[in-house]
Amino acid sequence: MPYNLKILMELQQIDTRLKQLETLRGDLPLQLSRLKDNLNDKQSYLEERKKTLEETHKKKHQAELDIKVWRQKEERYHNQLFRVTSNREYDAIQLEIETAKETIDGQETVFLEATELEESLDAEIKDLINEIQKIKEELEDVKKEFQEKLNVTKKEESNLQKRREELIHDLDVPVYRMYERIRKGKQDGIAVIQVAENACGRCRQAIPPQKILEIRRMNRVMVCEGCGRILVWQNDE
Ligand SMILES: [Zn+2]
Repeated sequence: MPYNLKILMELQQIDTRLKQLETLRGDLPLQLSRLKDNLNDKQSYLEERKKTLEETHKKKHQAELDIKVWRQKEERYHNQLFRVTSNREYDAIQLEIETAKETIDGQETVFLEATELEESLDAEIKDLINEIQKIKEELEDVKKEFQEKLNVTKKEESNLQKRREELIHDLDVPVYRMYERIRKGKQDGIAVIQVAENACGRCRQAIPPQKILEIRRMNRVMVCEGCGRILVWQNDE
């Protein structure tokens, strides 16, 4: 049993350091994933806008062709007007000319609207490409920063993890489970705390003298009545 408590003290030191290293990396992983999401969104929106531009371009081109065709028709009808022999025929051709004019008007509106849309899409696409470029640059910066921090902490972290495995291996399973349960339940990640001035070193809950004596012996797992952390005696050696 005293063995367990010694191990717990070292385990706590390791876990505290691991938590510090994690804090050092800060919110960089979160920043990275946010930037990636944003980049994906912008890229798929860009593709969508490009497709719309392409469709608009086709529509404009088709309107242009239609206008040409209908103008030729209109011209033909005009020429026919000179050769008509009856009023009825004249009226019929006039009607064709009206239809042609209306169609041309309609297609000209389509052409103009498509031209305007094309211009605004061009501008929008240009902006999107700029934005995407900026996000990519920012992403590269954050990636680099993250990698640098990882490189600094990686070696220390892997050594700590190795030592942690060894300690856990030597620890009684129920004690380890208890330690983990307390540690994970605490925001500061501290499950093992030393007694200071006859009180819990964390929550300052006073400890009765009889209990102090037991804790000093370090042969039983004793828990603080205030915060539920495992109490240990100062390691003076
Ligand atoms: Zn306490």
